[in-house]
Amino acid sequence: MWTRIDVPTGTRTRFIDITAAVAAEVDKARIQSGTCTVYVPHTTAGVTINENADPDVSRDILSGLARLVPATGDYRHAEGNSDAHIKASLVGSSVTVPVIGGRLALGTWQAIYFCEFDGPRNRHVLVGISGG
Ligand code: ZN
Repeated sequence: MWTRIDVPTGTRTRFIDITAAVAAEVDKARIQSGTCTVYVPHTTAGVTINENADPDVSRDILSGLARLVPATGDYRHAEGNSDAHIKASLVGSSVTVPVIGGRLALGTWQAIYFCEFDGPRNRHVLVGISGG
């Protein structure tokens, strides 16, 4: 079963915690054991799992990615957003989380983050849940 979650992003680069929205889809699926895949169907955004306790962590990841992949450089892509395409490939387009006991089996400090690299845009993710 696949469902869609809309993610308006608001700024050019941003990590948005979508854990609660994904967990709500797992609740609706009423499975006890299985997997939950979150897929981002965009070329300048991605998804990752990282710490939710200290908001400076996602800020620092964005800052680190900006140092690794400068906004301007030896790029040919005419849209002028090559840095966003590169960052999207670095973080990846999907994550899979185990579902155990009917709940996402994330670690205590883990959250699922939608990663915007070329916003603001109206984005969405696809959430696929399987199991029984
Ligand atoms: Zn582009």
